[in-house]
Amino acid sequence: MPLPTTTPDLEAPPRPRIAAEDRYSRQILFPGIGSEGQQRLASAHVAVVGCGATGAAAASLLARAGVGTLTLIDRDFVEPSNLQRQVLFDESDALDALPKAEAARRKIALFNSDIVVHPHIADLVPANIASLLSPAHIVLDATDNFETRYLINDFAVQQGKPWIYAAAIGAYAATMNILPALDSSRTACLACIFPKPPSGPVETCDTSGILSTAVNLAASLQVTETLKFLTGQSKAMRRTLLSFDLWSSERSDINTSRPNPGCTVCGQRIFTHLSGEGRPHITLCGRNSVQIHEHHRPVDFATMRSRLASHSEIEDLRFNDLLLRFRRGPHTLTLFADGRAIVQGTTDITLARSLYARFIGS
Ligand SMILES: [Zn+2]
Repeated sequence: MPLPTTTPDLEAPPRPRIAAEDRYSRQILFPGIGSEGQQRLASAHVAVVGCGATGAAAASLLARAGVGTLTLIDRDFVEPSNLQRQVLFDESDALDALPKAEAARRKIALFNSDIVVHPHIADLVPANIASLLSPAHIVLDATDNFETRYLINDFAVQQGKPWIYAAAIGAYAATMNILPALDSSRTACLACIFPKPPSGPVETCDTSGILSTAVNLAASLQVTETLKFLTGQSKAMRRTLLSFDLWSSERSDINTSRPNPGCTVCGQRIFTHLSGEGRPHITLCGRNSVQIHEHHRPVDFATMRSRLASHSEIEDLRFNDLLLRFRRGPHTLTLFADGRAIVQGTTDITLARSLYARFIGS
C-alpha cells in the first residue's frame, strides 16, 4: 500500500503573506544584524550537509532568521529514535519513513514560506559535490562521519568557499570555522588540525547516546557564525576549534587562526577525498545498518513493487514517490530513487549486498 503523501488542499484560500518587517522585527533590532543585514540574509544561500539532529536545528534556525535559500542534503529517512532531538520532524514523518531532506522542506514551508528550499535525497560524493555545493555562499557540516567532512574540506579549500565544522556526541559539542579564501585572513582547514581521519571505532550517537541540548548548542554556534559571515562580518568570526561539554561545563579552544604550513590539503593542495581515492561503495552507517551506494540507476518504484509483491518472504512492502521499503525476516530494506539502499538489521556487508542483489538486482 502506498505511503500517505501530503496533497495541497485546492479549496483553501491563499494564505495572507506575513510581512518581513513584522517577522524579523526583533532580529533587525539587534545591532549586529539591522535592516541592511536582514536584506543580505534574504539574498543569501546556505547549504546544510546532513539533516539529522544538527542539520535540522541549523536549517530551522537559518530559515527562521530569514536566510533566503537553503540547500539541504541528506541520504536518510526519519525514524522514531530521531524525534528526541531532530527538531524539524514529527511522529507522522517517522511513521511514514519520510526522507529527512523532504520532511525538512515541508516543515520549513509551514513556518517560513518565503524561504526557498532545495532538498536533495542523496549521499554527498565526489561526483555530485560541485553541483550541490557550488551555488551556496557557505556550507554547514551537519554530517555524522569524517569521510564526508574531509570531502567537504577538500572541495571548500579548492574553491575558497567557507564552511563550518560541527559535531555533537553525548553532552559534548564542537565546532570550527574554516575560511579558506586566499588572503591574509585564511584560517586553518580541517586537515591542518586533524591530518588524518580518526582510526578505529569512532563514537557515534548509536553507541554513546546524545543529548538534544548538545546538538542545539552546536547548531546555535554554527548558525551564529554563519549570520556574521552572511552580513559581511567575517572578521568577527571565531578563529578557534571550540568544544564544550554541557554536562561538566568544561570548555576548550584550540587556535585555528593560522594554517599549518605542512598541511597536504590547504598547503600542498592535494585533494585525495575529492578525487574519490579509496572511497568505499558500501558503508556502515551506524544504528546496525549498511548503506549500499554502488548502483546508480533510476528505480521505478511501481514496477519494483509489482515485482516484489508476489515474493513470499517479503512483508510490509510500502512505497511513495521518494522511497520503497520492505521487511524480509529481521532485515528492513529501504530503496531510494537513485538506486541507493539502506539495509537495517545487520552490520554484515556481505549479507547486505546479497539481500540487495536478491531482491533489488545486481
Ligand atoms: Zn590545512
